[in-house]
Amino acid sequence: MQAKTVVSSPITQKGKLLPRCRLCEEVPPRGIRGGYLINGVFICNLCETMILELEAGTEDYRELLGRIKKLWE
Ligand SMILES: [Zn+2]
Repeated sequence: MQAKTVVSSPITQKGKLLPRCRLCEEVPPRGIRGGYLINGVFICNLCETMILELEAGTEDYRELLGRIKKLWE
């Protein structure tokens, strides 16, 4: 009898870690390509666009800025 060759797949490929946006808690459909990793904090494209479109000095801007700052605290 011949011994069967067991092809073991590496565990690292099973538990693929998908990035989750720290602002909206969503996982972009394109994964890591759907956003940016800044200092270890992942921000998706949607939130990035939102930040860019906000007018500086407005209440929304300040609120979002406060939330972003907390991510790195
Ligand atoms: Zn987001």
